[in-house]
Amino acid sequence: MNKNELIIIEGRSVADMALELCRRGDLADMIREKCGDGDPLIALKPNLVGPIPASDGATTHPEIAEAVLSYLKKNGFKRIVVMESSWVGDRTSDSLLVTGFGEMCRRMDIPFWDLQEDRGSAVDAAGLELNICERVREVDYLINLPVLKGHCQTRMTCALKNMKGCIPSSEKRRFHRMGLHDPIGHLAAAVHQDFIIADVICPDLLFEDGGNPVQLDRMICAADPVLMDAYGSKILALEQEEVSYIRIAAALGAGCPDTSQAEVSFYLEKRGHEHGTKIRYVRAEVPSLPWNRDPGGMLIRLREHVDEVDSCSACCGTLIPVLQKLEQEGKLDQIPDKICIGQGYRGKTGNLGIGNCTSRFCHTLKGCPPTADEMYRFLSQLDV
Ligand code: SF4
Repeated sequence: MNKNELIIIEGRSVADMALELCRRGDLADMIREKCGDGDPLIALKPNLVGPIPASDGATTHPEIAEAVLSYLKKNGFKRIVVMESSWVGDRTSDSLLVTGFGEMCRRMDIPFWDLQEDRGSAVDAAGLELNICERVREVDYLINLPVLKGHCQTRMTCALKNMKGCIPSSEKRRFHRMGLHDPIGHLAAAVHQDFIIADVICPDLLFEDGGNPVQLDRMICAADPVLMDAYGSKILALEQEEVSYIRIAAALGAGCPDTSQAEVSFYLEKRGHEHGTKIRYVRAEVPSLPWNRDPGGMLIRLREHVDEVDSCSACCGTLIPVLQKLEQEGKLDQIPDKICIGQGYRGKTGNLGIGNCTSRFCHTLKGCPPTADEMYRFLSQLDV
């Protein structure tokens, strides 16, 4: 496929759709074009942010990875791995269990690299030194399988931010201290993604850790992560400028954010009239954008209760759904002060804080990060 192409597919047969995208994107030819006729090391990088099933809207459907693995094996590729590290606070091994990726890799006889167990080493990422897992640098061809979804700090996450799973946990914390956008943009210059299938089956359009899945039954294929994310921002009704890492990655040469120059094609799943008839994908008109991600302005409302400075995703991403639950129970307005969260509060004093970074506050919840249950109990039983 060309760098300026986006192929969108809509249907209910997740594995068939992923296979169709591999074929329509000429994945096997693209690998040979880049790596020659040898035996390249191919890595699939899903989003296994935490032990959350794909049906909750946060993690990649294992059926997508399985279909890509079947396609690669059928096309004669032998050296294939799946790699990921979950976010700070959760173990990748737990994510493998809950998402079904562990079982799928065993069944497909594919090694899984838990990057939480890997060492990082310093890399010059277009003028910014970043610590990147060493095994990632062994990969010849990287197939990125992100989820297009909302994010409580960067507004969205898709192809570019999914590469954060390729760095050690200590570096993830540093990314948050650096404000996320700049290092994510630079990471795109250091870790090259070759082929992308974004999971848009049932994403949570607001939160990175899911819980509010919206059934969209789609996947998007691209060869350019910047174009993919630029188009993703349109789907989520965001202005591209709101997601600064897209602009930064583009400026560093990682891709083109100009969706007006993109060749977009859209395919719809069709089944025959009789039960069991083969599935086909037929070209159709590209659907209009965007989908309304936050009809009631819920995210804006909830964020008004939070003062966040350089928070890790695991901390902020857990807090916002807890606030949503408190709001539904009519308890949110009883919280008497803004809730401070993030590494920017380390060593500082204040009134109400969540996480070890606010340990010097009058009212603080320990944990790095605290769990959703702990946050819920702490905030609902506050006596400030
Ligand atoms: S307590 Fe601080 S360091 Fe720990 S997860 Fe939360 S923001 Fe990150």
